[in-house]
Amino acid sequence: MSYNINEKGYYGEFGGAYIPEMLYPNIEELSQNYIKISEDPSFKEEFNQLLKDYVGRPSPLYFAKRLSEKYNTKIYLKREDLNHTGAHKVNNTIGQILLAKRLGKTRIIAETGAGQHGVATATVCALMGIECVVYMGEIDIARQAPNVARMKMLGAKVVPALSGSRTLKDATNEAMRDWINNPVNTHYIVGSVVGPHPYPDMVARFQAIVSEEIKTQLKEKEGTENPDYLIACVGGGSNAAGTYYHYLDNTDVNIIAVEAAGKGVDSGQSAATSVLGKEGIIHGSKTLLMQTNDGQITEPYSISAGLDYPGVGPMHANLYKTGRAEFIAITDDEAMTAGLELSQLEGIIPAIETSHALAVFEHKTFNPDDIIVVNLSGRGDKDLQNYIDYFKL
Ligand SMILES: *Cc1c(COP(=O)(O)O)cnc(C)c1O
Repeated sequence: MSYNINEKGYYGEFGGAYIPEMLYPNIEELSQNYIKISEDPSFKEEFNQLLKDYVGRPSPLYFAKRLSEKYNTKIYLKREDLNHTGAHKVNNTIGQILLAKRLGKTRIIAETGAGQHGVATATVCALMGIECVVYMGEIDIARQAPNVARMKMLGAKVVPALSGSRTLKDATNEAMRDWINNPVNTHYIVGSVVGPHPYPDMVARFQAIVSEEIKTQLKEKEGTENPDYLIACVGGGSNAAGTYYHYLDNTDVNIIAVEAAGKGVDSGQSAATSVLGKEGIIHGSKTLLMQTNDGQITEPYSISAGLDYPGVGPMHANLYKTGRAEFIAITDDEAMTAGLELSQLEGIIPAIETSHALAVFEHKTFNPDDIIVVNLSGRGDKDLQNYIDYFKL
């Protein structure tokens, strides 16, 4: 049994491509080409060169000595926060823009909620000199002014989504509409392991560099490629997918997926999809999502913009359903405390998304000789105002 995708585009019972007929040609073109192109030697060479010289890879695997002492176990941090643009998202946007170029596309569209994926997309479009249009809910544009300014400075056009709740899902609808109208010249860069097949697998492959590096780096430091535990936070699930990718079928390695409980799983203000979600279809994919009894998507909540999503990607839905991964839900308060703790024990201010993963050490006791790798998905600069407000700094 494999926990990776099958030839039909499913992880177990999750995944597939549930899309309107008008999108078939776009999705079919991607499905036919994404593996062929991304495994071509010239693609790999350009991708790896950019990851090295532009992103700054390999990102270090850092042994967190003081954090390890505090929790009496061996904790390594995979430093995706040190990437150019401050998170793992750029690994995926570089992969997709190289793919788009090879498909002859001259225009890129993307959707963004908090603006992090919009910035990562605008960055690679500037790098390649390709036109970039980012759809963003009108409410989010008002809430995320610094990222809107970054995108504009990078040369992207930011288009407000004015319908519905004027947030991420409405921006996604606008991007879909644009893509249907511009199938020939435009590529849609999706920002996580979500959406119709082949997006979840394509994004997971571009993020898989994270676990590829962990294997080599851990071998050097510990004499084994295999940690006892891998821990990552899950919004849509792309940094987690990259962290788990080369270990999915190695059940000696335990997998922990961390979701945002918000104000508490039972508070009505949460984003803990594994606990609260049911099977359904969101953004063209069959997965677990938070919904009402008649199938309307429930508005999620988390203090962390990147985890504030009503579903998880199909890989993670399957990891949950099969029990391959242990899912833990962390509240806003627990995450903020863990973020402050890492800052003061290690001198690393993490993104609030990442702080959720770090809070696992207060939830679960590990053995002193366990080797644990936590994916440090991003740096906290973007969240400074949130930390200031929360701790009254
Ligand atoms: C966007 C983001 C996430 C959540 O997205 P995934 O696709 O689940 O990885 C997590 N951490 C950081 C720093 C992010 O920017």
